[in-house]
Amino acid sequence: MSENKDFLRTIVEKDLKSNKYKEIITRFPPEPNGFPHIGHAKSICINFGIAKDYNGYCNLRMDDTNPTTEDTKYVEALKDAVQWLGFEWKGEVKHTSDYFPKIYEYAIKLIKMGKAYVDSISEEQMKEYRGTVTEPGKRSQFANRTIEENLELFEKMKNGEFKDGEHVLRAKIDMSAANMKLRDPLLYRIRHAHHFRTGDEWCIYPMYDFAHCLSDYIEGVSHSICTLEFENNRDIYDWVLDALELEPPRPYQHEFARLGINYTVMSKRKLLELVNGNYVNGWDDPRMPTIAGYKRRGYTPESILNFCEQIGIAKANSMVDVSQLEFCIRDDLNKKVPRVMCVLDPIKVTIENYEGREEIKASYYPHDVPKEGSRKIPFSNEVYIEREDFSENPVKGYNRLTLEQPVRLRYAYIITCKEIKKDANGNIIEIIATYNPNSKSGHDTSGIKVKSAIHWVDAKESKKVEVRLYDRLYKNEAPQDIEDLNPNSLSIIKDALVEPAVITQKADERFQFERQGYFYADPIDYTDEKPVFNKIVSLKDSWAK
Ligand code: ATP
Ligand code: MG
Ligand code: MG
Repeated sequence: MSENKDFLRTIVEKDLKSNKYKEIITRFPPEPNGFPHIGHAKSICINFGIAKDYNGYCNLRMDDTNPTTEDTKYVEALKDAVQWLGFEWKGEVKHTSDYFPKIYEYAIKLIKMGKAYVDSISEEQMKEYRGTVTEPGKRSQFANRTIEENLELFEKMKNGEFKDGEHVLRAKIDMSAANMKLRDPLLYRIRHAHHFRTGDEWCIYPMYDFAHCLSDYIEGVSHSICTLEFENNRDIYDWVLDALELEPPRPYQHEFARLGINYTVMSKRKLLELVNGNYVNGWDDPRMPTIAGYKRRGYTPESILNFCEQIGIAKANSMVDVSQLEFCIRDDLNKKVPRVMCVLDPIKVTIENYEGREEIKASYYPHDVPKEGSRKIPFSNEVYIEREDFSENPVKGYNRLTLEQPVRLRYAYIITCKEIKKDANGNIIEIIATYNPNSKSGHDTSGIKVKSAIHWVDAKESKKVEVRLYDRLYKNEAPQDIEDLNPNSLSIIKDALVEPAVITQKADERFQFERQGYFYADPIDYTDEKPVFNKIVSLKDSWAK
């Protein structure tokens, strides 16, 4: 293990050393009510990562105790996310609903021990009786029911003889406990709703605080790792497992800080709003902070794993700058992907003194990337350059092509502008230029000094592609609602041009379009007739102040 162990690994090592557990067993327990986001990636990395580091295993468990919001499509998305990040769960995917019969048995055991009762007060009364942080609560008059009465009522609850909300099952703990969560917490409630797995078999559903610890125990989990907001729930977790006097070993809960990232929202509820309101194109929209979104955008699993490792595991909540995630993907792609040329906003350049056609060999990778491979770029008397790489009235310090200033076409020759052609509205439609035959890149004897090299494509042999430029989904750092969405988070360019190798040789699915950024062949919309590329990230942090 690494020298700088995080606090969770320190606990795990101590527990192994003292033989508290024979094996390290963790679980990742999402509720299947939405697609997992980058916060879940952090939890996945922690739970699966720790299990792997200590030769244990991690279960993937759907925490499906809330029948009204859950769906199998979310189960599939969760499985995809874990696998894409490179982790494996042991055996079948687990479901809390698999344990409903066992959890029910445990509830009966608690009732028989006199540690749980059926309560029948109204919701308002329950709130009133709960007390406040400074005032102790008051126990319901129904807490005095006999064990027999409680068993009978609980069975009737299960058999569907009551309406939603008529009765609940509560733990008999302490109505004046300083931790309000311990003031006779709810264990079961009635919900006449169809469950996506158990159908109409159950009309009572266990609450998180009852189901979670027991599911962990049933699976033999050693370390139940969750986020900080469950800190106060830990006392119930312990109470339930201790009250039932279960065979050891039992699991213990440990909390870590939730991941928050600026310029985005990170709750499934808010993300669902974006999907349902059509503010984005589905859960896997490349602007979404979902794992499916990052995958579709072109992020690599390695970049997300590196990010999770970099941010570390802390005990205090904090906000991570999104540029740190962008750095991780840029850093990963820099080492991996071929460089090619794409012109997003083409303007034609006719080179008067060039005749014929040639092919220019160019490496896919710069010298500092230890990878090999090259392609041939066609060159002729007609090329396209980026409109903004020519300026008729250059500002001071403009280094690219002007009426006076020559420029190098990357990998090829130096060109000089002779004349520009404009349409009736005064827009430049063509640049007439000449090239210097002695200026070929690598064999330049022309003696001409240029200030920069620009990307270009051959006019006849380039291929038309659609390019989708993505920017941050929200325009401010701590977005609250829909008004904070960035109206320019997507711009679509229909007529970008790429050099032919991008399409015909398919050197990769991810490319660096030189000087533009990193791009990914959209895994869904890309076809040979209509290639589509998503912008993954820019080459530099353009949001930096
Ligand atoms: P959300 O509020 O976004 O819906 P959740 O906590 O309700 O998230 P669950 O499906 O219950 O989502 O989460 C599964 C696991 O992932 C839990 O253990 C939870 O603590 C963890 N998790 C969720 N969000 C984050 C986050 N932002 N950072 C780290 N872990 C997270
Ligand atoms: Mg949850
Ligand atoms: Mg939630």
